[in-house]
Amino acid sequence: MLILVINSGSSSVKYKLFDTGQDKSIANGIIERIGQKQAELSYQNYKGKSICNREVQVYDHKSAIKLAIDLLLDKEYGIIEDINYVRAVGHRVVHGGEKFISSVVVDDNVLKTIKDYSELAPLHNPPAVKGIEAVKHVLPDMVQVAVFDTAFHHTMPEHAYIYGLPYEYYKKYNLRRYGFHGTSHKYVAIEAAKKLERPLSELRLVTCHLGNGCSITAVNCGKSIDTSMGFTPLEGLLMGTRCGDLDPAIIYYLIKKEKLSVNQIDELLNKKSGLLGISGVSNDMREVEKAAEEGNNKAKLAIKIFVYKIIKYVGSYYAVMQGLDALVFTAGIGEHESKIREYIVSGLKNILDNNKTKVLVIPTNEELMIAKETESVLKK
Ligand code: ADP
Repeated sequence: MLILVINSGSSSVKYKLFDTGQDKSIANGIIERIGQKQAELSYQNYKGKSICNREVQVYDHKSAIKLAIDLLLDKEYGIIEDINYVRAVGHRVVHGGEKFISSVVVDDNVLKTIKDYSELAPLHNPPAVKGIEAVKHVLPDMVQVAVFDTAFHHTMPEHAYIYGLPYEYYKKYNLRRYGFHGTSHKYVAIEAAKKLERPLSELRLVTCHLGNGCSITAVNCGKSIDTSMGFTPLEGLLMGTRCGDLDPAIIYYLIKKEKLSVNQIDELLNKKSGLLGISGVSNDMREVEKAAEEGNNKAKLAIKIFVYKIIKYVGSYYAVMQGLDALVFTAGIGEHESKIREYIVSGLKNILDNNKTKVLVIPTNEELMIAKETESVLKK
């Protein structure tokens, strides 16, 4: 089945056309700098036809989607003859709140709820809405499916998702832990079970998605029972530019001492902290490692903190699940930074040795997971 997967950002549209029968993408593209004087298009199909960084005029998401579809049908660069061969479009949507516990076909009600949840994910849900509306405009009859980053974590028990705040705020403002990167955690958990040749429903896994954003999930018998990100993707591990767990009192202390506004605090915690904030070098682990190797003490410290927090989380999930069958690494750092993996694994020596826990590295493939989710919604 041909499924078009769209990941729509505020000024970019990434897309991949999948043949789910073969688990592979047959064309993909990215349109960036939408709305600026010159947008930029890169595209390739599996026959090797590609376009590199061509400047194009794309003023909004609708014209971006139109360009993407036209290319798929193009005589020279295209890959299909008729858009009706594409059975559905699957969209990555970051926040599904409490309502969306699995992927759903988008209708007017669903679209409205995704819009309403923009309050919970102001940077992420609005671009997804734009992507959905753009497809509706360009291909009015196309079935669209929303796949949520939060959905995999809906199985978390109440005691894992309620904060220690007055309960009324949970009811009033939906203030609770949601968790993110769910599509990636789910994908690598499924792949881990295949590698271990055991049913997922029997396994206790900890999946570590370590990219620019980092999160870690306890997957017990195929279900997320706890994860490190919370109400927003700021909670949990140390990340490229995000601080992760923090004593909340620091926020009002800093507001007083540095006379910072709410927006400035937001920027400080989300964009100036983490590996970048501690090392002063970069948010990119490759750069931080290089600096550490050259003797930069702050870079060394940033790496130590990064690793230490992961070890603490794995230890706590081990305790919660009373064991661990496999520790799974994925995303940029998880897949490529063998030194970081070694530090983590050696810090967990006792846990890993005593339990014959396997350590797996599994490249994530969120787009393929979205295509498969979309297909399974259609089949239902
Ligand atoms: P994002 O969250 O933006 O998708 P990625 O999963 O691409 O992030 O991960 C980015 C992080 O992975 C950076 O810290 C980068 O240094 C690190 N990394 C290490 N090796 C590689 C590699 N070969 N390719 C991409 N990222 C890598």
